[in-house]
Amino acid sequence: MKKNKNKKRGIVVDFIDSFEKIKKVHKNIPNFDFDCKNCKKNCCVSPYISIIEFIYVTRYIIKNFEKPNEILFKDNGRNSDGILLCPFLTNEKMCLIYPVRHYKCRMTGMDILDDIFTDVCEHKKELKWNLTPTITKQDWYSWIELLTKANKSFNYDDQRTFQSWLRFCFQEKEKLNNHEIAIQDLIKNYLNIDNYIPYIDANDFL
Ligand code: SF4
Ligand code: SF4
Repeated sequence: MKKNKNKKRGIVVDFIDSFEKIKKVHKNIPNFDFDCKNCKKNCCVSPYISIIEFIYVTRYIIKNFEKPNEILFKDNGRNSDGILLCPFLTNEKMCLIYPVRHYKCRMTGMDILDDIFTDVCEHKKELKWNLTPTITKQDWYSWIELLTKANKSFNYDDQRTFQSWLRFCFQEKEKLNNHEIAIQDLIKNYLNIDNYIPYIDANDFL
């Protein structure tokens, strides 16, 4: 059977466009260092993300690590508040996906978040957080808008943790318990959720 190259190209361009929007948001968020105290609270909890951010990070892991299933399905337990820790946090408290980390992680410590979220760093005053760059609400809204656009091809506009998206993709118990099957499924069929997103060849995705 002849391949419909145009159709394929069109789908890939959609993804490239979405990924470019994510990259633009990441580029616009100013980089800043802060003196984390590595307290017991451990605020590297699994951030709530959209499905396109889930795909963006998953793609990076599949491309860059030999055993992606060991990373994707890692159970890091919970922090002292009982909140699920991020699977990408290493034993050395480093971020395994630093170059593609989610926008919320990039904004940790930004003053603008203090009024919006309750789980801000409790040591912020003692640390060097006062050096955080000034972000206006307008900046923040424009990034959210761009991320929303990046996600617009999907039926799912809710935010879930990385682990929740994994569960969502592999609801069948057999797949959840067999990470090898799950990862193959993710590569081959993940983009076919509910038949809303047309099938894309794994080579196109990678
Ligand atoms: S993605 Fe990286 S920075 Fe974000 S919560 Fe996980 S380990 Fe922390
Ligand atoms: S709450 Fe503050 S000090 Fe504790 S791990 Fe998070 S950033 Fe570091």
